[in-house]
Amino acid sequence: MTSAKGKHVLVTGGAGYIGSHACKVLSAAGYIPVTYDNLVTGWRDAVKFGPFEPGDLLDRDRLDAVFSTYAPIAVMHFAALSQVGEAMHKPGKYWHNNVCGSLCLIEAAVAAGCLQFVFSSTCATYGEHDNVVLDEDTPQSPTNAYGASKRAIEDMLVNFGDSHGLRHVTFRYFNVAGADPDGEVGEFHRPETHLIPVMLDVVQGKRPALTIYGTDYDTPDGTCIRDYVHVMDLVDAHVLGLKWLDSGKKSRVFNLGSGHGFSVREVIQHSGTVTNLPVATVEGARRPGDCSKLVSGSVRAEKELGWSPKRSDLKAMISDAWRWHQNGHYER
Ligand code: UDP
Repeated sequence: MTSAKGKHVLVTGGAGYIGSHACKVLSAAGYIPVTYDNLVTGWRDAVKFGPFEPGDLLDRDRLDAVFSTYAPIAVMHFAALSQVGEAMHKPGKYWHNNVCGSLCLIEAAVAAGCLQFVFSSTCATYGEHDNVVLDEDTPQSPTNAYGASKRAIEDMLVNFGDSHGLRHVTFRYFNVAGADPDGEVGEFHRPETHLIPVMLDVVQGKRPALTIYGTDYDTPDGTCIRDYVHVMDLVDAHVLGLKWLDSGKKSRVFNLGSGHGFSVREVIQHSGTVTNLPVATVEGARRPGDCSKLVSGSVRAEKELGWSPKRSDLKAMISDAWRWHQNGHYER
């Protein structure tokens, strides 16, 4: 493996939540992150650690020009639509943006000879499995168009690997939470639908109450269980994935989760210990497309990549999110 110094990495979605944190750690590791983002869900203000190239995944001419300008050693592909609720109502939007957009990007990368690809996939590709430990060999049966679109891209990467020598590291994220502890970047979605930031909005009085989506799941307290992983730990794994590829290793899939599951009610309880403020809640219907339980049962990333999550306990994640939530925001 050669030095990272001065090497460009094309970061699609670098103006978004996870992508902006990835740019921060790439820059700290000596790479130059080039953000490629259409700013539909991302923020110009969040691009702080390298050049910004506005553009859409479906714009092949624009992608070719950016690959030609920077000759990146790799692509980190974060840009995607990622809301389960919306995906249930508008599946076509997810297939078009995520799948067609990724195809255009992968074809541009291959044409430019950029054959190292780090891909953000999701535990939503696994779908509902009763009492099964979710590791990377668990069969994938997504329950919504978001998960299905990500699985399709995973398949695409395998095909382009077989035919064009594209090597990939695919990360299947569990629930990403928290924010940069330095407060330079953080989570800022408009509209916001994710549990922890919505809950913190309620704590701040910006929303009247948090709706708990379903209290009749087959879980100890009836609410959904998720595995929360700190965004800084998550993006650290991406730098390790890049080094994995840059040292010539073969394509590989890794789960990224903490291995611990928390129900919606447990997340709410932890909030009180961080903020010392109450969360008003109302019990609502199940959200279509949600699985009862998604918890990673894999230590492959620790064993093979040498990943060691440092901040992924729930209190630290809510605490970092709370600090950002009170102080941080972006303008386009
Ligand atoms: N959730 C909830 N109320 C909300 C937002 C989310 O009860 O306002 C639940 C949701 O049903 C899921 C969990 O919180 O069980 C995490 O949802 P989120 O949207 O944060 O992430 P996802 O699991 O969809 O990736």
